[in-house]
Amino acid sequence: MTARILVVDDIPANVKLLEARLMAEYFDVLTASNGFDALDICDRTQVDVILLDIMMPEMDGFEVCERLKSNPRTAHIPVVMVTALDQPSDRVRGLKAGADDFLTKPVNDLQLISRVKSLVRLKTLSDELRIRHDGTRHAGIDDALRLTDGRLEEQAQVLLVDSRGASQERIVKTLKPIAEVSALSDPQAAVFEAAENGYDLVIVNSNLADYDPLRFCSQLRSLERTRFIPILLITEQGDEQMIIRALDLGVNDYIVRPLDPNELVARALTQVRRKRYNDRLRNSVRQTIELAVTDGLTGLHNRRYLDTQLRTLFARAKVRGRPLTICITDIDRFKLVNDQFGHDAGDEVLKEFSGRIRSTVRGADLACRYGGEEFVLVMPDTTADVAANVAERLRLMIEARPFQLRSGEVPLMLTASMGIATLGPGIDTPEQLLKQADRALYEAKNSGRNRVVAAAA
Ligand code: GH3
Ligand code: MG
Ligand code: MG
Repeated sequence: MTARILVVDDIPANVKLLEARLMAEYFDVLTASNGFDALDICDRTQVDVILLDIMMPEMDGFEVCERLKSNPRTAHIPVVMVTALDQPSDRVRGLKAGADDFLTKPVNDLQLISRVKSLVRLKTLSDELRIRHDGTRHAGIDDALRLTDGRLEEQAQVLLVDSRGASQERIVKTLKPIAEVSALSDPQAAVFEAAENGYDLVIVNSNLADYDPLRFCSQLRSLERTRFIPILLITEQGDEQMIIRALDLGVNDYIVRPLDPNELVARALTQVRRKRYNDRLRNSVRQTIELAVTDGLTGLHNRRYLDTQLRTLFARAKVRGRPLTICITDIDRFKLVNDQFGHDAGDEVLKEFSGRIRSTVRGADLACRYGGEEFVLVMPDTTADVAANVAERLRLMIEARPFQLRSGEVPLMLTASMGIATLGPGIDTPEQLLKQADRALYEAKNSGRNRVVAAAA
């Protein structure tokens, strides 16, 4: 994991120590000895995580953090406050200033690296989302991606697995401001619960009675439905062996007893945010893919999708010696609809027309808007005869039922013409197949419209 970490501390020895440890893990390290330099660096260059000392002359860590978080250019950079062990009140102030996590001096190696890695992952995800967001805003598909926006700051759903009632109660109470916590003491029941209901975070207390907490964690990691849920482990002070194994198993973060409430809140929030960024990113990727292959007006597949799919289906039919037939359909005298009732009415007709196509085709068929008022049906494993029946059925469906416009009082009577072509001798490419169907369509138009014509084999 390469990332750029900024270490801010007014004592050179502290800076050197953290710098050396981070560099040993191949992080790219920048340093600053005061708040002003730190703000300047963040403004000028890309920083992924900031380790921030609190006690500094002139501008202390709280103020640096506040300034970073109130500047839109730097607000998304995770800040880890490095606090003194004997100053628990610092953490409260740190959280108020917007800090994302804490480390206590003297800084423990394992904690340092796992905290930084966890925050770098979070930062990578949020960067990715911001980039996608900027990109899609220009492409005009911003709204589709924004549908999930609200989720980020919603109350988190947390599953707590803890064998002791008293500790359950304490954790539920601590997390109350940020999360709705369901507590269970039976790990087996908890695995089912996690798989059944969509949690944002699972917190595992290692105090489980007669059950290896790591076994529980690995079960969550191996199940399809729980694989991506973040896990936060609560362990005993000094149980580094367990912590290392837990992190190896894919546990996302840990926290040691006695629990510091602020630390618990900060850790839980970081994991929940990461989960939500992840979900959003996956959604956004899915939506982008869908948008790229879908016709915006009708919801049918678009021409680009047709081109790639037809190539695949064509090659497959050839290799297997199976029939493949396509049908191009074009609405008759569609221009008149636009001319008489306006473009919006025309759009309405196209939508309704597409709906009728959709209701005609079988699951294996592919229906696309080829352009304008032309549509293409690709029918794998279908002979010309069968396809002609399908086309005839569609033709009747258009002719038989008038198109009722939302604005218009008179229903429109419309018809469509169709050309059919099937895979056979002399057809070696998808383009030739499309061309044949197009010729048949032309013939249908020329011989009076409202009819199906099959290209001569
Ligand atoms: P023909 O029976 O010969 O097919 O006559 P036609 O009027 O349907 O054919 P022509 O190709 O002359 O006109 C097609 C019209 O379709 C012209 C164009 O303005 C309209 N059109 C293309 N795309 C859209 C669209 O997305 N929405 C609307 N409302 N109209 C469109
Ligand atoms: Mg037409
Ligand atoms: Mg046309």
